[in-house]
Amino acid sequence: MKLQEADAKSLLVAQGLPVPVWEVANTAPEARAAAERFLADGADKVVIKAQVLIGGRGKAGGVKLAASGAEAEAVAGQILGMDIKGMTVHKVLVGPAADIVKEFYLAAVLDRAERGILLMGSAEGGVEIERVAETNPEAIVRLHAHPLLGLQDFAARELAFAMGLGAHLKAAVAIAKGLVTTMKAYDADLVEINPLAIVREAGPDGTTVERLVCLDAKITLDDSALARHAGLEDLRDPDEEAPEDKEAREAGLTFIKLDGTIGCMVNGAGLAMATMDLVKRAGGQPANFLDIGGGARADKVAAAMQLILADPKVNAILVNIFGGITRGDEVAQGLIEARAQQTRDVPMVVRIVGTNATEAAALLEEARFQTAGSLDEAAAKAVEASRAAGTVGTVA
Ligand code: GDP
Ligand code: MN
Repeated sequence: MKLQEADAKSLLVAQGLPVPVWEVANTAPEARAAAERFLADGADKVVIKAQVLIGGRGKAGGVKLAASGAEAEAVAGQILGMDIKGMTVHKVLVGPAADIVKEFYLAAVLDRAERGILLMGSAEGGVEIERVAETNPEAIVRLHAHPLLGLQDFAARELAFAMGLGAHLKAAVAIAKGLVTTMKAYDADLVEINPLAIVREAGPDGTTVERLVCLDAKITLDDSALARHAGLEDLRDPDEEAPEDKEAREAGLTFIKLDGTIGCMVNGAGLAMATMDLVKRAGGQPANFLDIGGGARADKVAAAMQLILADPKVNAILVNIFGGITRGDEVAQGLIEARAQQTRDVPMVVRIVGTNATEAAALLEEARFQTAGSLDEAAAKAVEASRAAGTVGTVA
């Protein structure tokens, strides 16, 4: 699950990291009010940033400065509703504009191969790190945190020096260690600060001081660990998820949309993968991976059917159920119910074996479903039906 910048920043603040203050606004007048508060507090300008779950907002015109409340309202008006790489902006972040001296990149990422947390830092901040990795790979410093002790002081200092942050050593060390702490505290896969910036600020005695702050924040959480953290699920942005993903999650189905034409409804992840393989071998292309799970009852089957049919490319359906905990007759009942409700008539081939297969067969026969005895036969029939209905996706 990806977090919006403002939510990611809240988590950083909770871990004690230096983040400039901000407010979130849903409308242009709200942005104006927030801007006026920051300007009254002594800011020269405010920054207005689109809150969308996509990088490169700056380049796309989603990050702008304003010098007055009226200008902030106008700028927010332009940014709200803007389309950034297919995402509509519904909220903006408003904060005092930073006076940037230099931009760096610093991130903690889960390194699955090394089973640990990898820190990546660079003095080439502000730009996309993928570009730096391509054009100037030696400009990126990499270092692993200790699996038990986290990021140790000496390692954090090494990282800071290598990034050219020697003049801000103490702050850089605290931030690097803070990223690792944040990763662990929320089971994040990624905590990225780009830019980590040296900014100029007015010190307490009126003189100018330089400070290292997290100007942007991107956090991706491990979905499977959300249950361990009260409140984090509430930060999920409804726009992040494709509607079919949301439906699947709410129905308790494991669903991954693919590009083919044959909708697959299967119980068990292994069987679902085997079914996709056999569809491919028979010359067809699966439209999805769908695991209805163990013990699925009729209503879950109906929900799965709706999900499959919502994809306009689907022109044939293959149902492959191995009854164990799942009862074959429950699935058959679900299929009958689903067909009664469905708005689109798509040929379906059903194979149900295992628990209550005989009862299932009787139900399916009475309802005149096309059935198959073996999985090979089912796959062949589904591919044939798909071919007859239209084009079968090209074989990869
Ligand atoms: P991104 O493009 O989606 O990564 O959004 P960022 O928050 O990283 O902003 C993009 C760029 O806008 C940064 O690299 C900065 O150069 C610039 N920027 C962001 N915030 C400020 C600010 O407060 N003041 C100034 N002067 N520039 C900013
Ligand atoms: Mn950024």
